[in-house]
Amino acid sequence: MLGRKQLLIGGEWRDASDAATMPVINPATEEVIAEVASASRADVDAAVEAARAAFRGPWAQMPARERGRLIWKLAERMQERLDELSRLETLHNGKPITESRHIEVPMAIECLQYFAGWADKIQGDTIPVKSSALVYTRREPLGVVAAIVPWNFPLLLAMWKVAPALATGNTVILKPASQTPLTALLLGEIAVEVGLPAGVLNVLTGSGSTAGQALVEHPGIDKIAFTGDTSTGKNIMRSAAETLKHLTLELGGKSPNIVFPDADLDAAIRGATVGIFYGKGEVCAAGSRLLVDRSIKQEFIDKVAARTKKMVAGDPLDPKTRLGAISSKGQLERVLRYVEVAKQEGASLVAGGSRTDIGTGKGYFMQPTVFADVTPEMTIAREEIFGPVLAAIEFGDVDEAIARANDSMYGLAAGIWTRDIRKAHYVASKLQAGTVWVNTYNVYDTAAPFGGYKQSGFGRELGQHAIDYYTQTKTVWVDLSLLH
Ligand code: NDP
Repeated sequence: MLGRKQLLIGGEWRDASDAATMPVINPATEEVIAEVASASRADVDAAVEAARAAFRGPWAQMPARERGRLIWKLAERMQERLDELSRLETLHNGKPITESRHIEVPMAIECLQYFAGWADKIQGDTIPVKSSALVYTRREPLGVVAAIVPWNFPLLLAMWKVAPALATGNTVILKPASQTPLTALLLGEIAVEVGLPAGVLNVLTGSGSTAGQALVEHPGIDKIAFTGDTSTGKNIMRSAAETLKHLTLELGGKSPNIVFPDADLDAAIRGATVGIFYGKGEVCAAGSRLLVDRSIKQEFIDKVAARTKKMVAGDPLDPKTRLGAISSKGQLERVLRYVEVAKQEGASLVAGGSRTDIGTGKGYFMQPTVFADVTPEMTIAREEIFGPVLAAIEFGDVDEAIARANDSMYGLAAGIWTRDIRKAHYVASKLQAGTVWVNTYNVYDTAAPFGGYKQSGFGRELGQHAIDYYTQTKTVWVDLSLLH
């Protein structure tokens, strides 16, 4: 048991105003591993006040280069505590330690370093105008940013918001998902240790319906940066309209991974499985629709199914494990419901399909699952399952591949497997998706923007593009006419 954790407000740790707490469960053991404070509306008010004071005070007064140095220091201290952060990420989410320790926590640290470098390079322009006036622009922070993040990549998705927000001079209130609050709290602890001024980063654990909703409605918050479910995103947009907040929404996906017959098929098979089973399929950009050319369909899906059957769920803390526990009981039940619906609608189950056990009799483990003979109107071809379930759909030619790929309300990502460079670029240009991977899948870099088309959201995270979403432009006119 990791004990009882408090809220971080204005540099101080405190219980929720009404002393409410909530349990954190390890999905691999079903045990309660911590109790965290559950923030009330009064706590949200206090956090907004602290963040606003820091925004007007020490954070605004700090030279940008110094701000960047402090953010870099935060990254360095996180690096020193990499093992602890990774272990916590695995304990509350169920993801394999190899994903936390070697991929996601290092990416979170790198994200912080990348944006630390931007802090003193955010510049305006001087603009030639008709008159002799001097016209220039300043890029100014928005103010107080609320970062509301989900449970699938708790620290990494928090950092995609916290890092650019801080680097551009905003202050932040971070609300992690109820299921996975532990790494956000450790981030807060490290921020206090490195001397981030009080109130610059506040961490409010608590429920979406209370703390989350209060943040979205609060007139003292200037921007909501959200990742999560599309329906939650729509609610947030409605609620935030009242106070006309800036918004970036990174929402769901049903991403197509398209395999043409001229592809390196061994690489495509690996890409198809990594595309869906990394992170137990709890990945917004998961390649959950495998679109395969009819001429190679049978052989390709047989091989994908064979590879899938070799993937066995294991103890997430074991460095050899590649498939961890589904994040919660509710999520496991939801995914299994989709499996039943797929069977009822006539899809052919060719691998997995059931809950599984790692020999402990505990934990929310599931077999990686593949369905063949999926048609575009079936539920598993349309809805985001957010679990290790792949739906294979056939196509006849390039145009049909593009049409089927785009036949979705989502547009987060897509994959293309082909050796034909013209086809690759042509198809990439036609896909309605914020990210297109050619002959690879599920790769990210802090410098490369990420975000959705259509109902996968708007705004971009990462890279230089992210800076636009955390700053506003002020145009300054200086009359020089007296000098003529
Ligand atoms: P949500 O979108 O509801 O949760 C994401 C974050 O938003 C959490 O911090 C949550 O808090 C918070 N939140 C919830 N309601 C509100 C609200 N009204 N105002 C402000 N914040 C709110 O996802 P769920 O965890 O409920 O998962 C539901 C489904 O969403 C999953 O099964 C999956 O299909 C999909 N999903 C998609 C993700 C993606 O990246 N595309 C990520 C996560 C889920 P709290 O945790 O307390 O509810």
